[in-house]
Amino acid sequence: MARPPHPATRLAGLGHYTDPASGSLVPPIQPGVTGLGHGPAGLPDMAGFYARSGNAAAGLAEELLAGLEGAAACACFGAGAAAAQAVLAGLRPGAHLLLEAAGYYEFRAVIARFCARWGVAVSLVEMTDLAAVAAALRPGATRLVWAELPTNPLWRVPDIAGLAGLAQGAGAKLLVDATVATPVLARPIALGADWVLHSATKYLNGHGDLTAGALSCAQVDADWEELLRHRTAAGTVLPPFEAWLLLRGMRTLALRVETASRTALRLAEWLEAQPAVSAVHYPGLPGHPQHALARAQLQGGFGAMLSFQLAGGRAAALRVAAATAVFRRATSLGSTESLVEHRRSTEGAGSLCPDDLLRLSIGIEHAEDLQDDLAAALAAA
Ligand SMILES: *Cc1c(COP(=O)(O)O)cnc(C)c1O
Repeated sequence: MARPPHPATRLAGLGHYTDPASGSLVPPIQPGVTGLGHGPAGLPDMAGFYARSGNAAAGLAEELLAGLEGAAACACFGAGAAAAQAVLAGLRPGAHLLLEAAGYYEFRAVIARFCARWGVAVSLVEMTDLAAVAAALRPGATRLVWAELPTNPLWRVPDIAGLAGLAQGAGAKLLVDATVATPVLARPIALGADWVLHSATKYLNGHGDLTAGALSCAQVDADWEELLRHRTAAGTVLPPFEAWLLLRGMRTLALRVETASRTALRLAEWLEAQPAVSAVHYPGLPGHPQHALARAQLQGGFGAMLSFQLAGGRAAALRVAAATAVFRRATSLGSTESLVEHRRSTEGAGSLCPDDLLRLSIGIEHAEDLQDDLAAALAAA
């Protein structure tokens, strides 16, 4: 083939995988902690392997992801949070970090604690506002700009190429948490990002049965080598069985993301027309503040996460969530089943989330069942 295969094709066959030992089209599960090297002419290559620095299944997932993202390399971790900690561990005291102000609440708290303890300055900025980003950058001191594509839970869409230009102009790296966009819909490295983070717990695995993280880089440099050393030192590599399950989940990633995104768009359009709903937040809607940017930066859909606000306020939101039957009331996202969440209750003290907002993670159920469920819940509330 003259052109590179589409993500769906790469994923379906795990990059045309064949097990070299058995010829199987499915990788083996190899739990061994230590292994012999294979030296030339029967001489032992003393390198061998030790499982704290990686394993075959995680390596295969990394190769597949790096290919999808157009990345120079990828590193898998036991959770998205472990990947984030490895990034933070590379910052030195006195460094400065720019973090998405309207993003994933747990990272906001985790990063604030880390930076306070390690003498790293952090500025919270809404990354959709390039002028604010430019003003907050401290050339020479800012090491990292940490953005989200799209932001959680209002699904705002930053201009990745614009952020990359500003960050790199100030001598900083741009990291994009693209968990919600997935490598099927977005390729932040092609837009100029240096590092791309995924909570593989979400869409990449897609079955809600493991935690995993992945970080990809545009270039292998000293920061990347340091990140890999931290992963080995901390023992946060993705273990073999989890990596094997992740590969199994990734085979259907494109199918799941495309289906769920299509359903999300249909539900967002339908919710917008409901009198009980005062606002719908979804990048696929023409009224979304960054709809044009979303169209330009995402291919094949606008993602499967959406939020809406209730005209009846917090009480109405809680009643609607309680009245759903197909949607499950649970946090997290990116699994096969659809979830509804009163986000402010989950985030707790310090939440910036509107109190009348429900967050939906759309799964792969039939769209009609999900729409009827929301219609019944809105009517009951
Ligand atoms: C869940 C999530 C994370 C954290 O990942 P874990 O796998 O739970 O550690 C990071 N970023 C985003 C956007 C997430 O949704």
